[in-house]
Amino acid sequence: MKNAVPECAKCPSKICLLGPSDEGPKFCPMNTTPDVFKDAREVAARPEIRKMFRGVARTWKDSGLSKDRIEEVMIYADNMGFKRLGLAFCIGLADQAKVVSTLFQKRGFEVVSVCCMTGGFSSDDVGLSEDDKIYTDGRQPQCNPVGQALLMNNHQTELNVLLGLCVGDDALFIKHSQAPVTVLAVKDRINFHNPLAAIPEYKKSLGLKT
Ligand code: SF4
Repeated sequence: MKNAVPECAKCPSKICLLGPSDEGPKFCPMNTTPDVFKDAREVAARPEIRKMFRGVARTWKDSGLSKDRIEEVMIYADNMGFKRLGLAFCIGLADQAKVVSTLFQKRGFEVVSVCCMTGGFSSDDVGLSEDDKIYTDGRQPQCNPVGQALLMNNHQTELNVLLGLCVGDDALFIKHSQAPVTVLAVKDRINFHNPLAAIPEYKKSLGLKT
């Protein structure tokens, strides 16, 4: 069953919450690929990874599970001993980026903030065909998440915070960032950057009850 595909999203029991178990459904990875968890424990035993795990747990405790995500990012960064934060933001969220950057600085962090338009890329820089452009009358700006990540790397940020990058730009940023990445907000043009607002409608259309 080595290649059995986990389908935790469809698991009715979530018995893993209670500890290691073989009582999950047949697709449960604890039954089908137990060796993976041995490997995961070995990774978690590395000091730098262990520190990150503990950083999360300490953030739960220190936040009392009752803080907003902006606050939690700062608590986590404190717990990890990170002093220099990267803020990679979308130009459409420049106002929010200014607030977050100012707040981080007031709380004692150094902030390296980089806009998605840095470097002045256009879609021609990435060989986009005319047919694939949405701006057909001239230059189509292209976000530059690779440039954002490389600037962060140059400045040796210790934690990079994403603010509103487009789907796929976030993937490129994460792929090129040397520092760990956390997401403060994602881009969702329809739902005020809260993609989960769409869930009830999808749930209804899919006929799902739970
Ligand atoms: S790990 Fe197993 S028990 Fe946990 S959610 Fe996935 S299938 Fe369910």
